Amino acid sequence: MMSSTGYLDSHLHLQKNLDNLLEGAKMGVQRMFCNATREADWQAVIDLAAGGGEIIPFLGIHPWFAETAGPGWEQRLMSLLQQNPAGIGEIGLDRRCRANFSRQQQLFLTQLQIASELRRPVVIHCVKAWGALLETLEQFAANKRLPPTMIHSYGGSIETLHRLLKAGCFISYTRRIMTEPKLQPCFLETPLDRLLLETDAGTQEAQTTGQEPAAIIGLYAWAAATRGIEQQEFNQRIWSNGEIFADTILPR
Ligand SMILES: [Zn+2]
Repeated sequence: MMSSTGYLDSHLHLQKNLDNLLEGAKMGVQRMFCNATREADWQAVIDLAAGGGEIIPFLGIHPWFAETAGPGWEQRLMSLLQQNPAGIGEIGLDRRCRANFSRQQQLFLTQLQIASELRRPVVIHCVKAWGALLETLEQFAANKRLPPTMIHSYGGSIETLHRLLKAGCFISYTRRIMTEPKLQPCFLETPLDRLLLETDAGTQEAQTTGQEPAAIIGLYAWAAATRGIEQQEFNQRIWSNGEIFADTILPR
């Protein structure tokens, strides 16, 4: 495969705003991990990825939409994954949302099991449910069943960060690290070979803060300067981390 490196946006939702895609591509964002959030947008994500470029699809049910999962969703997800090169995301646990938590846990576990079985990478969302998340991830890691796993938009503690790293997870940060001092120690503690950067574009929150894919470039500049690493070398390191995810999805 061609080893072109550039800017990777490790988490966004292009299916919600196509203009984002065009703008990102124009600005030189070479690769984007595009995440579904519920069954209703699986096909849109597959279609976007099929349109060429470097859009890598992730299919899954987000904890916010846990209660929208209809009978047979597991089989439908499984068969789409068997027919399409795609990872699994965005999945996870969120104690701040209204969806029933045990339903969230059920869905999360099932999707993680599917990922493990099919050896597809996983993108995880977690809010105020770190204990439950760690318990599951550590179990999978202990049994050597954890596929490449990314914790997206990381916002937990340093202690949690260390346990996630020990389990083998990659940690992805948004532009929040530029303005929220509590996140900076975590960013600095994340080894370069486990670090990813994202806009989370396409979410409502991201739209109001002007986070389109092109905003990734400013985040890379800030991150490289903060880590004291030359920009090109920094980009290359993050790109390689992304390849661990992309390589298990993209046909060779
Ligand atoms: Zn997201």
